Amino acid sequence: MLEGKVALVTGASRGIGRAIALELARQGANVAVNYDGNEAKANEVVETIRSLGREAFAVQADVACAEDVERMVKTVLDQFGRLDILVNNAGITRDNLLMRMKEEEWDAVINTNLKGVFLCTKAATRTMMKQRYGRIINVASVVGVIGNPGQANYVAAKAGVIGLTKTAARELASRNITVNAIAPGFITTDMTEGLSEELKADMLKQIPLARFGEPDDVARVVAFLASDAACYMTGQTLHVDGGMVMP
Ligand code: NAD
Repeated sequence: MLEGKVALVTGASRGIGRAIALELARQGANVAVNYDGNEAKANEVVETIRSLGREAFAVQADVACAEDVERMVKTVLDQFGRLDILVNNAGITRDNLLMRMKEEEWDAVINTNLKGVFLCTKAATRTMMKQRYGRIINVASVVGVIGNPGQANYVAAKAGVIGLTKTAARELASRNITVNAIAPGFITTDMTEGLSEELKADMLKQIPLARFGEPDDVARVVAFLASDAACYMTGQTLHVDGGMVMP
């Protein structure tokens, strides 16, 4: 599906980002694996992609830092000569009740989860516009649609990502760049590992398909949005949540 395409996946050393990087490679893409801290983990993903017969390299960058992002996109262009698919996946949580939330907790989450999407999109679209081809896929969350107590910063960022997706889709459509979002529900990764068993049991009751999602459940939908099968879709948010939220 993605033979000859070049993809950049942010936060791809583990979890959903790792699964996306591997799935895009399985579908034929060469992949730049972004990481912020764990080079060894990123290199493992690179080696797995190479064992699939695709090209890959790891590129360090904090997505919340404009200079890092510019350097990252330049490195992708130097290595692969083009950039077809950008997956804005990097994200963090700093949960707290609104009344107790510290300004640093707010800023950290907004900067990584929302500003990071803006910076990476801006840096990548310059090339995509020249190519007159691009696929941008933003990893949002169902909580960006329905809200979630204790996650005001995260929810505001993810709702912002959904709005940014729609605006970018409208601005870039004439250059054959599509921009879509994925809203995962509860996916088993490091991000959700620390939640209490009580909360997990409660969440499970709200999922019609009666299981938590796996990173691959999200990755396959990202690969679909990156493929020509989705060429007439833009500005959409696809829920990958076992039916948890039906807008
Ligand atoms: P994770 O914590 O396993 O992975 C997050 C990745 O982002 C890590 O590789 C981390 O190093 C990277 N990262 C964090 N800050 C970064 C920065 N400033 N620059 C570059 N990379 C950075 O979590 P995950 O569950 O795999 O989350 C991936 C995405 O999916 C996130 O955007 C998250 O908000 C979203 N999401 C997850 C769930 C879930 O249930 N796990 C649900 C909805 C949405």
